[in-house]
Amino acid sequence: MHERIQQLSPRLANQIAAGEVVERPASVVKELLENSLDAGATRLEVDIDNGGIKRMKVHDNGKGIEREDLPMALARHATSKIHALEDLEAVATLGFRGEALASISSVARLSLTSSRDESGKGWQVSAEGRDMQAQLAPAAHPRGTTVDVRDLFFNTPARRKFLRTEKTEFNRIDDTIKRLALSRFDVSISLRHNGKGVHNLRAGSGRVEMERRVAQVCGPAFMQNALHIDVERSGLRLWGWVAEPAFSRSQADLQFFYVNGRAIRDKVVSHAVRRAYADVLYHGRHPAFVLYLELDPASVDVNVHPTKHEVRFRDGRLVHDFLFGSLHRALADVRPGQREEGTA
Ligand code: ADP
Ligand code: MG
Repeated sequence: MHERIQQLSPRLANQIAAGEVVERPASVVKELLENSLDAGATRLEVDIDNGGIKRMKVHDNGKGIEREDLPMALARHATSKIHALEDLEAVATLGFRGEALASISSVARLSLTSSRDESGKGWQVSAEGRDMQAQLAPAAHPRGTTVDVRDLFFNTPARRKFLRTEKTEFNRIDDTIKRLALSRFDVSISLRHNGKGVHNLRAGSGRVEMERRVAQVCGPAFMQNALHIDVERSGLRLWGWVAEPAFSRSQADLQFFYVNGRAIRDKVVSHAVRRAYADVLYHGRHPAFVLYLELDPASVDVNVHPTKHEVRFRDGRLVHDFLFGSLHRALADVRPGQREEGTA
């Protein structure tokens, strides 16, 4: 048998690419929200039905998309965020690969409605997996963009099988919203599930408003037991809230860590935090914290992984010792009598 080489159809290529970007409803919500933020939105409204499996709708008040650009928005490798390789060096947006909308629309029924001005008039494109031919039509819309995603994986049953219960999928979406809410206090965010309000977070960047939001996201008990910290040393700054050891958790569900405003998971960070809490937490208990590390962008690489949850520090040792030292000292302050150790 002679196997011929063939070009993949655009739809199939997108569906394969979607495997990396669109793992579950929460990854769709994350991509849509990042697009809204990249468009300068200050208000995000998220509507979810049935754990997102049936429907996810994100409405923003960002700068919108030009009518002529709408079909391109759904095309693969199409982005307004970089134009040349040099742009990658200084990319300041959350997205830039031009993959998300193409991927999502290849495995769901997607419509995107947008307007650039306050005329109340806008345009809508929709695509339904099948042919990737976007349909364009006029539609009423205030300045901003609404992306409506229905029937995730309707045309990829194998992927659909991997979805968990609606409750589990919704909890992942909720986690995504919470993680974002704690990184952008200046943006108001609402979340509804099956028509019921889950979060309604107002924007505000003062300490009082920030603490109100942390309490809304992490629960009032967290805030009542939290120590506010703000430490600066050797070009590194660590600020935020750490729960006293008495407020430990059976799960690692209240752990938020941001590096230069980006939510990340990192071994250096987890290790430093775990060690700082090591002698004050019972075995099997998890600390709760909302922490922000700020450092020179040149000393951290955030594009190790496409989903950008991972980072690579140029000097991991320095970061580790700074985190451990700062947290250990903050925790030592609340348990007088306990010996303070060095940071080595
Ligand atoms: P990327 O974010 O990597 O550029 P996407 O597929 O997520 O790729 O989006 C493609 C393009 O569509 C973006 O570059 C942007 O120009 C436009 N876009 C997507 N969502 C929005 C939005 N909510 N508001 C304004 N423009 C958007
Ligand atoms: Mg994007």
